[in-house]
Amino acid sequence: MAIDTAMPQVLEAWKGVKKIDLPEYFTSGHRTCQGCESALVMKLMAKAAGPRTVVLGSTGCMYVANTTYYSTSWVIPWMHTQLGSSGSAALGTAAGLRAQMRKGKIPQEPINVIAFCGDGGGADMGLSAVSHAMSHKQYNLLILMYDNESYANTDIQVSGSSPWGANSTFSPPGKVRRIMQTRWKKNMAGLMVAGHPETRYVATVCPSYALDMMNRVRKALSLGGPTFIHSLDPCPKGWDYDPFISHELGELAVETGVWPLYEVEDGKFKPYGKTKSLMAGRKRKPVREYLLKQGRFAHFTDEDIDYFQSKVDEMWDKWIVPGVIPIHKEEPPAAKTA
Ligand code: SF4
Ligand code: MG
Repeated sequence: MAIDTAMPQVLEAWKGVKKIDLPEYFTSGHRTCQGCESALVMKLMAKAAGPRTVVLGSTGCMYVANTTYYSTSWVIPWMHTQLGSSGSAALGTAAGLRAQMRKGKIPQEPINVIAFCGDGGGADMGLSAVSHAMSHKQYNLLILMYDNESYANTDIQVSGSSPWGANSTFSPPGKVRRIMQTRWKKNMAGLMVAGHPETRYVATVCPSYALDMMNRVRKALSLGGPTFIHSLDPCPKGWDYDPFISHELGELAVETGVWPLYEVEDGKFKPYGKTKSLMAGRKRKPVREYLLKQGRFAHFTDEDIDYFQSKVDEMWDKWIVPGVIPIHKEEPPAAKTA
């Protein structure tokens, strides 16, 4: 009897930390910096997905630091792919597994396919492959972009996902020009939502909210089809802060409204966690609290902080959906009189 190889694995949401499965599939042995939230993302992602999972990792911190010669922290099958290839690797692996099952070469069973990429690999170099993978609804795959807001692996260069004004090796503040990174951060999750009608599920997450994050991974894998998760990951080296406050910074990103948490399932938008209460009217914290804890913004003047705050306010006050649909609300045109 033919089995539908397109069926995804069903992974129920965990209703509280006590319900989380104990086994780890990303363990000790990696060499990331102390306080690295991207390493935590790998651990949570693998735990949420479970043992019947293939992980594909494009070049970046989470490749180099996790697979140094003769050592790896991956317990589940893992393969490296080139910097811009997370989308191609995900699509090719999902299609390959289906073909092997159809031909009877491997047992027929749902196997999760997850490709991860950094912001350099996903939002910049690999954007075309990610976009392509999000256009094939017949394959079940998840692309998780871990966003530490720079090319961290090669010593903190600006990426399309770096925040406005951040000090990096490509944008050091000088005496003549204080702000060298003059572009606003690219809206990757919004881009996936707005331009990819075949994509089943898009979510933003932050590892400071571990259970929420794992349940978004489980939902993406259970829905099947192409799915995308964008994670904001505080990075002590690139953001220049004491590793002790990694979690706090993730929380502040959400509480200040800089990083809205939401999911879009089959085109339907739903905020979750603290973002839900912010959208319901709870007061956002000032971005100053988030920015001034990070050395990469230490050169900011009050004027720079005000500008940053005004851009975040604009996203919350003038967009149709904060962080998702960047279309300014316009007043309806005045009715013409004869
Ligand atoms: Fe993690 Fe940042 Fe260190 Fe890379 S540079 S391993 S992302 S803390
Ligand atoms: Mg990066």
